[in-house]
Amino acid sequence: MNYKIVRLKTTGNGRNTASVLIIYTGGTLGMAYDESGALVPFNFGLILEKIPILSNMNIAITVISFPEPIDSSNVTTRHWKDMAYIIYENYDSYDGFVVVHGTDTMAYSASMLSYMLKGLNKPVIFTGAQLPISAMRSDARENLVTSLEIASAKVNGLPIVPEVCIFFNHMLLRGNRSKKVQSIHFDAFESENYPPLAEAGIVIDYNTNAIRPYKPAKKLVNMNQLDNNVMVLKLFPGITEKILDHSFSVPGLKGVVLETYGSGNSPSEAWFMKSLEKAIKKGLIILNVSQCNGGRVIQGRYETSKELLAVGVVSGADMTTEAAVTKLMFLLGQNLTTEEIRTQLTQSLAGEISG
Ligand code: ASP
Repeated sequence: MNYKIVRLKTTGNGRNTASVLIIYTGGTLGMAYDESGALVPFNFGLILEKIPILSNMNIAITVISFPEPIDSSNVTTRHWKDMAYIIYENYDSYDGFVVVHGTDTMAYSASMLSYMLKGLNKPVIFTGAQLPISAMRSDARENLVTSLEIASAKVNGLPIVPEVCIFFNHMLLRGNRSKKVQSIHFDAFESENYPPLAEAGIVIDYNTNAIRPYKPAKKLVNMNQLDNNVMVLKLFPGITEKILDHSFSVPGLKGVVLETYGSGNSPSEAWFMKSLEKAIKKGLIILNVSQCNGGRVIQGRYETSKELLAVGVVSGADMTTEAAVTKLMFLLGQNLTTEEIRTQLTQSLAGEISG
């Protein structure tokens, strides 16, 4: 792949306390208005023209751009492999990484990268913006500058946040616990089931108890085998047997994230359970996550979820849909048995699920 690499001229050059690699994938942050007034991706290597304050940072900053910056609605497994590859290949040369990404699928990408980058011991901070960098009231400057600060932050020579996160609108959230919840306001992301890892006010206040600890002697492994023969099926009152049966018989389908109601409830009618049971017996993995943003799936709490447990639906506990569907793709790619996948779905790979 033909990546463009640009080293930015920051005043700290030579006296820099840290080095950060910005991976520019696309999204609103890196857009500017062209002569016709349309928003188009701008050359991110020229970011200093847009945010001159970056040149005062004591961080050596390098930018690597996707050859074709994308709207994150176009993200595929190939882009995740590219992101993981860039981080893996440059891992030893930088203290931290900032991934500039569209907000629409940022939570999916951050979740997937948290699984793929096994043994990660450095910050990987995803960020973006609701308004393009060239807009007067853009949130791009604050989001990018603080992400760079967090990606380079160390205490006693060790990174403060050695995990995959999303920084947006003053809040640092664990990537695989985040969800885009706003398309208009600046507070676009939330992490209902896990506390924020930091809040950026006058100082950046780190919630050290919530951050994954640095693990000495861990080596980074790029786990880049993925299998996207999966789907998300959101339940709704009135869903029919035909729809359910057809969905489960898509050729090649291996895993389904079933978005259920409340604490993991579904219709308890016989045809519904039979359809699930038949699919599971055929080898399909069905993972139960809630349509609610907060709380968790507790199969068996209500009559309406007891049977899900009985037919072999796996509980996704307090995982987000984003973390669940990417985890399925990840585990399906690892050459595991169905039983091993079912077990690992309920265990934490990168802090995405509570024990
Ligand atoms: N559609 C854009 C994207 O996700 C929105 C954004 O960047 O916020 O790439």
